[in-house]
Amino acid sequence: MQQPRRPIVWTIAGSDSGGGAGIQADLLTFADLGCHGCTAITANTAQNTTGVASINAVPVEVLIDQLNALQRDLLPDAIKIGLLANSEQVLAVTEFLHRLKAIRSVPVIYDPVAVASSGDTLTEDGIGELVLRELFPLCDLVTPNLHELEWLARAPVGCATQIQNAAQLLHTSGCRALLVTGGHSEINPGEIADLLWDGVRGDWFIGDRVDSENTHGTGCTLSSAIAAFTALGYPLRDACVVAKAYVQRGLRLGQGDSIGAGPGPVGH
Ligand code: PLP
Repeated sequence: MQQPRRPIVWTIAGSDSGGGAGIQADLLTFADLGCHGCTAITANTAQNTTGVASINAVPVEVLIDQLNALQRDLLPDAIKIGLLANSEQVLAVTEFLHRLKAIRSVPVIYDPVAVASSGDTLTEDGIGELVLRELFPLCDLVTPNLHELEWLARAPVGCATQIQNAAQLLHTSGCRALLVTGGHSEINPGEIADLLWDGVRGDWFIGDRVDSENTHGTGCTLSSAIAAFTALGYPLRDACVVAKAYVQRGLRLGQGDSIGAGPGPVGH
């Protein structure tokens, strides 16, 4: 009997030479979940577990070449977007998605990466407004962590009400839903609370915090897992639930690892 075709998932994101986050985490996740991953690389970061040494944005025409090549032969069942390094890239990806969506309905999951876990800035200053205006309306789901939520909403996110208000504000930019990840919150140290806001309903997903130093790549892995599960046919809300469970498993898998001198990668 013929096997069903493996879903194709694209990642439009940056490379992490340390293999913990970015494109590398995305491909590990897609493969793990039975999808074929394709990549359009936005930037090359030279980094290891202790920090980012340099970041080089890919020229916008090289980014578009990658997307066009994929479109000619490997149409996606879902797209994950991670790091966009500058405003030119935001505009180019937005324009490309408009063209793609005119011929194919494809879920877009955007992880609005701006700062590496080490604290190093990865994007050009001031692309937040452009992202909200141009890219958000094309996204089925945006997955900010609390720093990214604060960056985009320009509002404090220190308690549940503020997080909810900021998510509601960002939703007015036109994305279908937001999943705010609470891994950086210190409100309840023993648990992690993520908020899924779809414009009507807000659901908090509460999970136990896994005590691990090896958390690098959790945001990338979560958004990639959501894209993969969506490509596999899960409705968005279910995809969020199983993707969160997948990241929890990865945190437990990576718990005892000692990869590099700094915070190591989440397990896959
Ligand atoms: N993308 C790239 C290329 C990165 O280097 C990083 C962090 O260093 C990220 C995304 C975000 O990583 P995380 O999943 O830990 O938030």
